[in-house]
Amino acid sequence: MLIAEVYVEVPVQQINKPFDYLIPVKWQDVVCPGMRVSVPFGPRKLLGFVTKIKTHSELKQLKEIESVLDLDPVLNEELLQLGKWMAAETVCLTIAAYQAMLPAALKGKYQKTVIVAPGKQIQDCSADVQALFGDKTRLNYEEVLASEAVKEIQTEISNGHLELVRHVGSKGSVRTEKVLRILKSHAELETILQETKKGATKQRELLEFLCAGPTEISFNALKAEIAATLNTVKILADRGIVELVEVEQYRDPFSAKSFNQSKHMQLTPLQARVFKQIETAALAERNETFLLYGVTGSGKTEVYLQSIDVVRQEGKQAIMLVPEISLTPQMVTRFKGRFGDDVAVLHSGLSKGEKYDEWRRIHRGEVSVVVGARSAIFAPFKQIGIIIIDEEHEGTYKQEDTPRYHTRNVAIKRAEHHRCPVVMGSATPSLESFARAKKSVYTLLTLGERINQRALPTVSVVDMREELRNGNRSMFSTELAVKIEERLVRKEQIVLLLNRRGYSSFVMCRDCGIVVECPNCDVSLTYHSAGQNLKCHYCGFESTVPTTCPSCQSDHIRFFGTGTQKVEEEMSKRFPNARVVRMDVDTTRKKGAHEKLLQQVESGQADILLGTQMIAKGLDFPNITLVGVLSADTSLHIADFRASEKTFQLLTQVSGRAGRHELEGEVVIQTYTPEHYSIELAALQNYDLFYEREMTVRRQTAFSPYYFMTLMTVSHVDRMTAMDAIHSVAQRVKATLGETSFLFGPTPSPIAKVNNRYRFQCLIKYRQEPNLLTVLSEINEDFGLNSAKTGVFLSIDMNPNMMM
Ligand code: ADP
Ligand code: ZN
Ligand code: ZN
Repeated sequence: MLIAEVYVEVPVQQINKPFDYLIPVKWQDVVCPGMRVSVPFGPRKLLGFVTKIKTHSELKQLKEIESVLDLDPVLNEELLQLGKWMAAETVCLTIAAYQAMLPAALKGKYQKTVIVAPGKQIQDCSADVQALFGDKTRLNYEEVLASEAVKEIQTEISNGHLELVRHVGSKGSVRTEKVLRILKSHAELETILQETKKGATKQRELLEFLCAGPTEISFNALKAEIAATLNTVKILADRGIVELVEVEQYRDPFSAKSFNQSKHMQLTPLQARVFKQIETAALAERNETFLLYGVTGSGKTEVYLQSIDVVRQEGKQAIMLVPEISLTPQMVTRFKGRFGDDVAVLHSGLSKGEKYDEWRRIHRGEVSVVVGARSAIFAPFKQIGIIIIDEEHEGTYKQEDTPRYHTRNVAIKRAEHHRCPVVMGSATPSLESFARAKKSVYTLLTLGERINQRALPTVSVVDMREELRNGNRSMFSTELAVKIEERLVRKEQIVLLLNRRGYSSFVMCRDCGIVVECPNCDVSLTYHSAGQNLKCHYCGFESTVPTTCPSCQSDHIRFFGTGTQKVEEEMSKRFPNARVVRMDVDTTRKKGAHEKLLQQVESGQADILLGTQMIAKGLDFPNITLVGVLSADTSLHIADFRASEKTFQLLTQVSGRAGRHELEGEVVIQTYTPEHYSIELAALQNYDLFYEREMTVRRQTAFSPYYFMTLMTVSHVDRMTAMDAIHSVAQRVKATLGETSFLFGPTPSPIAKVNNRYRFQCLIKYRQEPNLLTVLSEINEDFGLNSAKTGVFLSIDMNPNMMM
């Protein structure tokens, strides 16, 4: 008897151990680790992941696996282990880690069929399987599972002849196209053409085309070439000359565009030195972590591209991670241009079905490069040759929901397994990574110059208090206004950054100053211009925009946008002839909008690109010669120990957009606190000084990278219950902490109520607490087991990015 260990997704109880289930005899040699199964659990049927097959169980009365959801494991052995590791490191359930590794489409309900794999033919399969298919193009999964041939089908799936396809939603269903396969040789076709009646003009036309044509062509492509009809094709099919087959078509979200092929550039000596080190590590299969510290425009991306090519030549795969917002069309174009169809792209703009398709291409081994945001780190590659994390300092690499993993740590873990290098690149590395590079935990690689020794842009800082004293109340300083005029005259382009963190719009009463808040949460509602309504991003509450103030009944109640709209208005007065493209959450909400707006800048239809944080990254336009920062300080005044670091990074990044090519660049930073070191040093573009300065602050205030942090948050609908719970958590943790660690709190969370649940938190700061993970996971388990009864939720965040 074979027994499967299964991690089960129990909705209310958080149990973090596998359960044993009997494998029914008919599936004895079918079920294997990494597959999902449906199992009975109490009165319910639940989804579970098989992690192990064994012959013994401690338990006597075992239930049987009810159904098998995959014939091809969705997780391989490496990812199964990685999930367990992640669960331990981030204190979450193993099953939650597994779910996070799969595309969202696989979590929902969908139909399954077995089809002939793209590029394969049914003739590739065994005779039994061929017989099972008969003249069908696909088999119903349930029938396959019940049939005698299930093992054989599975074998054909694992050797790539067949594929198990999940039909994801209506948009997610598999698309097929009609393809003509020519069954005769060119010589035979010539003869057939001779023998075809002169009057059959359509047949003759098609035959003539085929005589000189390919052996396979899609019907659509054929129609583009000659005026063939389906009828004519069918006549030839009846004559046994061609066959017409349905072939699956991947939804390629980028197929509408063609990508210009790009070749490797001749590396500069600096680039070559850096590249050599990465190449050596990759070829030696050395698990080495590099920090590539290179100023903006120093050619980091070219180094990435060539490093990836090294491992491709070795038959291995590459993961290229970029922050979501810098996953711009420009970035995608650079990768598609170099590696063509060998690239899968994963980002949040894709539909579930599109993401699933990209995942399948990776799963089936059809691509060797994936470019994607955070979750692409789980790409199911079998032989990873390199992992690259661009803009490694970005906060989005940390996932804020369970499992709260940091992509960097997962990357390093996977690289250990695959014995391959990790390259983390940035012009403004996170303090954590730079500190590790200084201690030689990571290997530091430096690109200190821009390509062709192009100068970094000159930066001037304008004191806006001074402007105000001189009677300038506008949001443009005299200097910035003059420089904008100059550029407009010279037909050069300008980037204007409005520095707003959290950049959502809210509705406020101008008379009493009240902001419309969510009734369930302690946060303001976000205005959505598309539906002209208000939404809560924490609980989903929606309402219409009030016409009068709920507090003072004034009708001066307005929505306050990111501010970009206001700037745009002022600009149209100051610079009436300037063509402005505005990019913020409101103008980019629609799919493809981001891309369209950038296209306008690229093609020169716009003079000024005005936007929030999202314009600071990745853009590489030759004609941009001026960058203006309208308000440098706004990101300094938020309650976040990384506020200075984030401000410095933002200013440096956005400055880097100017003068990247032939034309020289200039930057104007407007601020009310010109003396603040993050602004001063960003103006000097001196990361090293900033690093020293900020490290001193972190040491004095006992923050990361000097200390690790863990945030524990408890929530409950009743305030007192939540308070009691956080006190008990605090007590248990305190009892185990060493002398050099601190516990802060308990205190109410900065957002004290979400979805009508009161929230309290405490924070641990520590340098070394070898037992902490064990203690936390015990506490987590106790809470999880009782959460159905008590209604108390506990969340644990190791090294949190946000303290909300
Ligand atoms: P980074 O990623 O460091 O910001 P990029 O890779 O975008 O820098 O390079 C900046 C510019 O320099 C790009 O336009 C790129 O095409 C160009 N470039 C990069 N490497 C070379 C090279 N070896 N020779 C010529 N141009 C290069
Ligand atoms: Zn009011
Ligand atoms: Zn809410």
